[in-house]
Amino acid sequence: MEHLTKLRQLLQKEKIEALLVTNPVNVAYLSGFTGTAGMLLITEQDAWLLTDFRYLEQAEAQAPAFTVTDTAGDGWKQVTQLLGRAAVSSLAVEADHLTVKDFTALGAACRALTLREMESPVKVLRRIKSKAEIDAIAKAQALTDEAFAHLLKLMKAGMTETEIALEAEFFLRRRGAGGMSFAMIVASGARSALPHGVASQKKLVPGDAVVLDFGCVVDGYCSDMTRTVFVGDVSDRQRQVYDAVLAAQKNALEQLRAGLSGREGDALARDVLQELGLADYFGHGLGHGVGREIHEAPRLSPAAGDVILEPGMVVTVEPGVYFTAEFGIRIEDMVVITADGNRNLTHSPKELFCV
Ligand code: ZN
Ligand code: ZN
Repeated sequence: MEHLTKLRQLLQKEKIEALLVTNPVNVAYLSGFTGTAGMLLITEQDAWLLTDFRYLEQAEAQAPAFTVTDTAGDGWKQVTQLLGRAAVSSLAVEADHLTVKDFTALGAACRALTLREMESPVKVLRRIKSKAEIDAIAKAQALTDEAFAHLLKLMKAGMTETEIALEAEFFLRRRGAGGMSFAMIVASGARSALPHGVASQKKLVPGDAVVLDFGCVVDGYCSDMTRTVFVGDVSDRQRQVYDAVLAAQKNALEQLRAGLSGREGDALARDVLQELGLADYFGHGLGHGVGREIHEAPRLSPAAGDVILEPGMVVTVEPGVYFTAEFGIRIEDMVVITADGNRNLTHSPKELFCV
């Protein structure tokens, strides 16, 4: 309800008469409805949830602020009829979600309306999290912290990356997580240099760096954390790089605050790695927003000069250094931006662990 009220204020400001929300993540955010088929039609006065007979009961229960309408097989016709009654002349659509095929079909059904293609205004709202949203993310991260402690106890040479991922998932699901935020990254040895090395059948061997990047979903909200641990022993070079990545992260965590741009936030870590001659091996941005989706606005990266951090944003701080075919190291925490700094939601230890 709170989200719908905020959206209406935004629509009024942007002079949008009616908005069609088709992205299921935005549908859930605004209405609470989590079915896989449904869209929202929102005007200043009305809020409809259009779905089919499979979801009518669920929709009524989950989305009390919306009038549930049966599409009866033709959602576009329904949209036209409802808007005809509401007497609006234009309809905004989520250009970053609606397919060309659906856009064409909608246009054919709503000839009397002007369609306005725009990036979804809902995404703008989703950047700032409410207390309830932050609580859900913090809960998901608390479980993730517990899972990391559990993994540290059982990881050893000879285990496959997949076995580690499965252990994490069992652990988290058993404690009530709705699922994993994404397919867990367990990348060991030379694979640790792949920033997104999803768990494989590779076995851990002594000397491996192991990047563990994972999170879970609680009440529809994701967590995201990375730790890098070592198998058996750690080389001097691995330790050096680990300390460098940790120093870069610490600097960013100490200084990240509202008012900085996404580029300035990124530089807090990148400059430290630059001084140590490692910036060329830090090939991605420092972080990203986290919420209903694992990657959402805002971004912290050299390309995010126009993004300004605001209180209530939840972002990751994840510097990484990757040496192709050798090893990689990444350390990732998740923080809430506050008026005078940030609050870290991640509590897993960061000292160098050998398993
Ligand atoms: Zn991550
Ligand atoms: Zn991340």
